Amino acid sequence: MKITRVALEFILEASKGAHPREFIGMLRAEDGTITETLIIPGSTFEECRSSILTYMVPIDLSLVGSVHSHPGPPRPSRADLEFFRRMGKFHIIVGYPYTPQSVAAFNSDGSPAALELSND
Ligand SMILES: [Zn+2]
Repeated sequence: MKITRVALEFILEASKGAHPREFIGMLRAEDGTITETLIIPGSTFEECRSSILTYMVPIDLSLVGSVHSHPGPPRPSRADLEFFRRMGKFHIIVGYPYTPQSVAAFNSDGSPAALELSND
């Protein structure tokens, strides 16, 4: 999966802004490139307990998965793995200090996935 610079910067800024709580959103992609993060109404940003009201997520085939931040390392928790299985095929965790180097990507089964910056 690729991500635009603008979309990545939005995620990093939102993660910094939420610290030490967690930022959480859904990822929208076009042709294999993440272009946008959707904030789902009713989402809660709480340390280690972020959640999305899944019934508030629109039925939208361009939504490929989720993004959330951790105030620590970007390692998926058991709850994250459960969430990944239900919420799409591609997931991002941004770890502290919320730089491009502290971003990790995962498949729905929790295995590591590749994420690169798109050229545009
Ligand atoms: Zn998490």
